[in-house]
Amino acid sequence: MYSGDLDCKEANRMIPGFIKRTLNLEDTVAFINHVKQCKACKEELTIQYLVFRGFDEAVSSGEYNLITKLESEIKDAELRIEEKRRRNLVAFGISILALAFVMFVIFVLLL
Ligand SMILES: [Zn+2]
Repeated sequence: MYSGDLDCKEANRMIPGFIKRTLNLEDTVAFINHVKQCKACKEELTIQYLVFRGFDEAVSSGEYNLITKLESEIKDAELRIEEKRRRNLVAFGISILALAFVMFVIFVLLL
């Protein structure tokens, strides 16, 4: 039993969204954190992922490959989160620089 920000019921509700990549960033972060620590939800995710990708694919490429795909799917999501955070940080840095520049111009004009 995992007691985090997300309970298993909420995590379960997010599974289809995660698979279809329709979860927002915060939900994806919470979902991944939960799934990484909750074996029951990870299993549920694996099952739903297999169903979503289709058992045909599971048969042709092997269930093992699909589970590997799911693992890389989770890694991809983490990378997207990381990328988004970095971009937000850069945007923040640029706005600070812009603000500093405006203050500099005002300062120069006042002299
Ligand atoms: Zn859970």
